[in-house]
Amino acid sequence: MSDLNAQAVAKYRTNFLKEVEERVEEGEWVKMCMQCGVCSGSCPLGPYWAHPPQEIFMMIRAGRRDEVLTSDSMWMCTSCYNCIVRCPRKLPITHIMHGLANYAHRLGLAPKNQPTRVFATLFWNNLIRTGRVNELKLSLALYFKDGFKQGIQNALNMQKTGLGLMKAKRLNPFELFSGHGCKDKKGIAAMLKKAREIEASRKHFAN
Ligand code: SF4
Ligand code: SF4
Repeated sequence: MSDLNAQAVAKYRTNFLKEVEERVEEGEWVKMCMQCGVCSGSCPLGPYWAHPPQEIFMMIRAGRRDEVLTSDSMWMCTSCYNCIVRCPRKLPITHIMHGLANYAHRLGLAPKNQPTRVFATLFWNNLIRTGRVNELKLSLALYFKDGFKQGIQNALNMQKTGLGLMKAKRLNPFELFSGHGCKDKKGIAAMLKKAREIEASRKHFAN
């Protein structure tokens, strides 16, 4: 965590709920949870997580900051919205889960090797270069994320699929050198710059 972030969160040391309310997107809803458990019972993946949504909200109110922010549960939310449509208090549970994941990422507390986080980072870095995802470069980045040897092994394991995609013209090896992108790359860069400025000006994104 940067010094700036460390200073910014120091005032919340004894009140994690307040920190979530002020710095996590939709975090102000957490206090409305009445712990009925409908969200966790409705979540198709909750039984496989260390902390399904109801438990995460209970932990926030109990001040279990480190456990919440280092949890990988929020990263496994698939945005199916089952929880939102069933919550009797109408909490935007999906958005809170993503907001918590994003906040933990910004603080540098999110689990480093959590697969969804790794993929999201590779995808984003790939996308912002040209405004369009280069599937070949993204696949190679995924294959080689654990080192050269593992990358070769992954590529060999997937060669049948890769050749099939090339045959069906769904994968073009020349994209490694040329690739495709939006016509107005400068416009994309300007749009992203503006989005970052807007985020920085909002309370729950401010450092
Ligand atoms: S369904 Fe809503 S009120 Fe019930 S535990 Fe989940 S978030 Fe809380
Ligand atoms: S949106 Fe996320 S937390 Fe809600 S039920 Fe679906 S997977 Fe579970």
